[in-house]
Amino acid sequence: MDARTDQSNLAGTRARAKAPAPDAPALLAWYDEHRRALPWRAMPGVRPDPYRVWLSEIMLQQTRVETVAPYFEKFLERWPDVQALAAAKLSEVLSAWAGLGYYARARNLHACASEIARRGGEFPRTEPKLRALPGIGAYTAAAVAAIAFEARTIAIDGNVERVVARLFALREPLPKAKAKLHALATRLQPEGRHGDFVQALMELGAIVCTPKKPDCPHCPWQGACAANALGEPERFPHKIGKKEGKLRRGAAFVVRREDGAVLLRTRPVKGLLGGMTEVPTSQWTHRFDDMLVLGQAPLRREWKRLPGTVRHIFTHFPLELIVLTARVKKKIRPPKGMRFVRQQDLHREALPTLMRKVLAHASRTIHPEGRAT
Ligand code: SF4
Repeated sequence: MDARTDQSNLAGTRARAKAPAPDAPALLAWYDEHRRALPWRAMPGVRPDPYRVWLSEIMLQQTRVETVAPYFEKFLERWPDVQALAAAKLSEVLSAWAGLGYYARARNLHACASEIARRGGEFPRTEPKLRALPGIGAYTAAAVAAIAFEARTIAIDGNVERVVARLFALREPLPKAKAKLHALATRLQPEGRHGDFVQALMELGAIVCTPKKPDCPHCPWQGACAANALGEPERFPHKIGKKEGKLRRGAAFVVRREDGAVLLRTRPVKGLLGGMTEVPTSQWTHRFDDMLVLGQAPLRREWKRLPGTVRHIFTHFPLELIVLTARVKKKIRPPKGMRFVRQQDLHREALPTLMRKVLAHASRTIHPEGRAT
């Protein structure tokens, strides 16, 4: 521990010692006045629908509210309840999810809906029973139990972590401090309104106690906040830097038929981007050799390499793809396990963001007659 951190810890302890305890009624009163009207949030006095709560919590994992809102509306319009979602084909769900990322969520969403429908369509009401369902981890189980069923529990997402770490000027870095954060957040809980309290904590982190420039003067807990007393709220929470994985490289093969149809295939259901649609690609490896890549091409053709590359960041590694294109006659048969999809039908395909980037890159750099520029 360096001298500066040591000083800060002492100051944090003093700040916590002097500050009044944060009180739940103040936060709930703030929430009643300032809560955003979100498509999945029940109006005051209305009992939340567990299906909406669950669907939104799955979609919101690692994903921004503004991104999720149109997807949530689309899903609800198409599959208004858990039975309807369970009756959908997995390929339809993946296609509707395309662009939202972290596709294991969509596969688990479908599996979870099927399991709930099989049990009669009722969501379990307790955290342990919710956790036993596909795709529901500790956070989601707590959020659904609290928001939909008023369970006395705390759901800690990134927003709540930030608020609590700042309130107590927590010294331990994340992720080591998770258990301590949970214990501190639990101490703040009121006797009732458990669902609102969980949402109020999240809302405070989302719109007031933001990562940069928190709006402390408008925070209902300003007087009780140790990080604010220290004058350095942005220094919390401390985090141990996450290592970016090693770069993988590969090639994407964009084959266009003379009528514009594109050669696609479906990835295996298990694994990264499982069940999603892709243009054929080579393996993605750390030791990619672009001189040898044609051995992995889906067709023997004259391939043109487009200028530039497509980059994408997955959770555990960054990826860089070169893009090769070829043009084929309309009568050609697709290789086994692949299919040609017409331009006007592409929107029905479960194309993840990476593949959309590849196709956009190919469209930008391919001459209308099919020659690389
Ligand atoms: Fe966050 Fe500022 Fe409120 Fe503290 S006073 S909880 S730092 S917004």
